[in-house]
Amino acid sequence: MESVKEILHRYNLRGTSARVAILNTIISSEAPLSESDIKKRIHEVDRVTFYRSIKNLLETNIIQGIITQGKIIKYAFCTENKNNETSVQFYCTECQRMTDVEIKAQLPVVPQGYTEKTCSITITGICKTCNKSIQK
Ligand SMILES: [Zn+2]
Repeated sequence: MESVKEILHRYNLRGTSARVAILNTIISSEAPLSESDIKKRIHEVDRVTFYRSIKNLLETNIIQGIITQGKIIKYAFCTENKNNETSVQFYCTECQRMTDVEIKAQLPVVPQGYTEKTCSITITGICKTCNKSIQK
């Protein structure tokens, strides 16, 4: 598997210690993490550097922000991030797992004059496993 530094290099980002620490934390977590979750796991990264690093990672689509219930943004690593490919993921609000969703329906089309770089859509809800345990 690619190292965090290699991933950053692939997106033309320097492997600064803050970016490496943040990305490592996000990748090693099974569930998406909120800002405070990430901050709890990394140390010695000041506020400004933290937000700048998050912004860089979001802009390059290495990570994605998911708005969860309670309007908290959680960050997750974008798996198989190939440019010009649309990825749709399902975020379960119960177990916080992300599942890839098969694309069958029509996709949003960007207006004329706009250049689409990547498109990632996250659907939030409750997964099959959690639905079963709720119904019991
Ligand atoms: Zn679930």
